[in-house]
Amino acid sequence: MPQSSSASVDAPAATAPAPAGKPRKVPRVLVLGGGTVGLYSARRLRKRLGKREAAIVVVDPRPYMTYAPFLPEAAAGSIDPRNVVAPHRRALKGVDVLQGHVSQIEHARRRVQITPIEGEAYWVTYDHLVVGLGSVARTLPIPGLAEQAIGFKNVEEAIAVRNHILGRIDVASSTWDPELRKKMLTFVFVGGGFAGIEALAEVEDMARYAVRHYKQIEQEEMRFVLVEGSRRILPEVSEELGGYTLETLRKRDIEIHLSTFLSSCVDGHVVLSTGVEFDAETIVWTAGVKANPVLQDSDLPLDKMGRVICNAKLQVVTEDGEVVPDVFAAGDCAAVPDLYNPGMTCPPNAQHALREGNHIGDNLARVMRSAEPTEYKHRNVGAVASLGMYKGVAQMFGKIKVRGFFAWVLHRTYHVFAMPTVNRKLRIMAGWTGSVLLRREVVALGSLHDPRAEFRAASVPPKPREDKPAEQAAAVAKADAKQEALPPQKAEAGSPAEKSDAHAKKD
Ligand SMILES: Cc1cc2nc3c(=O)[nH]c(=O)nc-3n(C[C@H](O)[C@H](O)[C@H](O)COP(=O)(O)OP(=O)(O)OC[C@H]3O[C@@H](n4cnc5c(N)ncnc54)[C@H](O)[C@@H]3O)c2cc1C
Repeated sequence: MPQSSSASVDAPAATAPAPAGKPRKVPRVLVLGGGTVGLYSARRLRKRLGKREAAIVVVDPRPYMTYAPFLPEAAAGSIDPRNVVAPHRRALKGVDVLQGHVSQIEHARRRVQITPIEGEAYWVTYDHLVVGLGSVARTLPIPGLAEQAIGFKNVEEAIAVRNHILGRIDVASSTWDPELRKKMLTFVFVGGGFAGIEALAEVEDMARYAVRHYKQIEQEEMRFVLVEGSRRILPEVSEELGGYTLETLRKRDIEIHLSTFLSSCVDGHVVLSTGVEFDAETIVWTAGVKANPVLQDSDLPLDKMGRVICNAKLQVVTEDGEVVPDVFAAGDCAAVPDLYNPGMTCPPNAQHALREGNHIGDNLARVMRSAEPTEYKHRNVGAVASLGMYKGVAQMFGKIKVRGFFAWVLHRTYHVFAMPTVNRKLRIMAGWTGSVLLRREVVALGSLHDPRAEFRAASVPPKPREDKPAEQAAAVAKADAKQEALPPQKAEAGSPAEKSDAHAKKD
């Protein structure tokens, strides 16, 4: 719980009085979401206003902010996943942090319901609100999707994708059955935007590097598939650069299905809208985002896409443009007018989110000192994408197009500067230097996802041998007999053992 008495919340009371009666000594600013917008707005506000002018409280279920542009590199093992997150307690000096989910927003009563990780929900009242709740994966009711696929929006998913893919390679290298092996070594990515292309390209590069250490698996056995609904990839850059990226990925034997949708993936059997069918044990869903659905449980004005409606000063406004007092919003969950592209809203990216966050900090400080807030205006500087080690594409200021090694350097330089905290910047750079000297790490730590499994198994008391049921003993005897009679021709039919022998001969 927050320590500062003026900032302490009204938890865990079931309800708290609206601040209509007695005004608080120090106004409370409640920041919903400790992501890009939340972290930058809270930090800037803290810099602008002293502790006697504002008590700032940030609410987020995670104790850290994630710098998502580095997730593909974290999945590829080029960056330690711990270094793509900025811990709130360190990065938010002078700010109180509450760990929990915002479950309801009642702005008319200036209160928000928070459901903590454990325990009962409680209400927190406030004087000013900042909404930076971000987005969630935009999914579709595709049969099998919820059971088979994984998203790529947070660091936990990036780690899981990495461990899963390296784990499949490990298991496939010791698997006889060719069909099963094929399924294990087929990796599908759905969505050809920035996040999907970077994730696919980085992970494919990592997997090909890893397979060099497996004598039992040939590079050609791995199949990487991209499924994209529109006729092109990377809509964020020009057609020319998107086309170049497409060519580059195709040269790397990545199978690309454009103007195609995933129709079904029940039990890993992938069916595409073009009729193509195959089996895959890995399906990564990166087909876009939608505003955080918790906003639907609020009295804030939303547009058709569920985003909070804002004016250019980042104040929340009604559909008629009337300012809703005491609330600002920005980032993926907000519709912010793009003053450089009249009639458009700012795209949902980190470039805007972190600048909008800073701008909210400045504007809120102005409002709290009875000054006029200013308009947010940012011309997109461009887009940079990494496509694996030493490969990339970039488009700067609309015209300058860069490819290959220089684009990759640009990507790393741009994002390491945008990464919050000097601590993280230094750690990331130190990690990159280490990888150049020692090569990147490609070990799969799959058991991380069920670390107690071995302990659970060890805790089961062994049955005395004589108690072995007759059927179990018979089954074991049968399995032993089968093992002895393993047909040699099965081992010859492309078995890992046989491949290993062949490689050994080559060596
Ligand atoms: C893989 C990937 C790659 C990307 N690459 C780029 C790139 O190269 N360049 C670029 O500009 N942009 C990129 N983006 C987009 C960029 O990261 C986002 O646009 C940006 O982070 C949005 O900031 P935000 O503050 O709105 O949301 P976020 O940074 O996502 O923050 C939202 C916060 O809200 C919290 N939250 C969620 N629900 C609740 C709740 N109920 N209660 C309380 N808190 C909650 C979350 O935990 C999170 O901390 C990428 C995104 C992804 C996923």
